[in-house]
Amino acid sequence: MCGASAPAKRFALDSMLGKLAKWLRVLGMDARSVLMADRTVIESLLSTGFIPVTRREKFRDREGVIFLCSDRHLEQLAELISLCGIQRDQVRLFSRCTLCNTGLEPTSPEGAFGAVPDYIFQTARDFRKCPQCGRIYWPGSHRQNMAAQLEALTGWNLQDEQR
Ligand SMILES: [Zn+2]
Repeated sequence: MCGASAPAKRFALDSMLGKLAKWLRVLGMDARSVLMADRTVIESLLSTGFIPVTRREKFRDREGVIFLCSDRHLEQLAELISLCGIQRDQVRLFSRCTLCNTGLEPTSPEGAFGAVPDYIFQTARDFRKCPQCGRIYWPGSHRQNMAAQLEALTGWNLQDEQR
């Protein structure tokens, strides 16, 4: 189903699949949002190595396009993982900005000062920053909850990455 055989798949998600895009980014997958208004958009994506993902019926039978059946984002994620054969070792949990899809970079606590709540600044370590939009990320219960949901969905052991 997936045309690209490169190690790192590059997904282009229809703009209506925003929640799915966020979850793919949590897994560290390259998942950009694109308004798939017509076939020229699809052809352009395919010719530049992207895997278009959509729920629009009109693109259902286009070779190379991933058509998702479910309208629930976690079920869509399971569908996509299955259809594209995404493996555990391709996952880089919490390595990408969930807002803008950019790879995160480590930053010092000083770099996070003023951008996170005081109690987080006092207690958290391992801050990461998005070089594109400036959002700061840190370990915590929110991450653990997401990792637990992903473990339940995929059966993967993500313990070593959810600190
Ligand atoms: Zn960002």
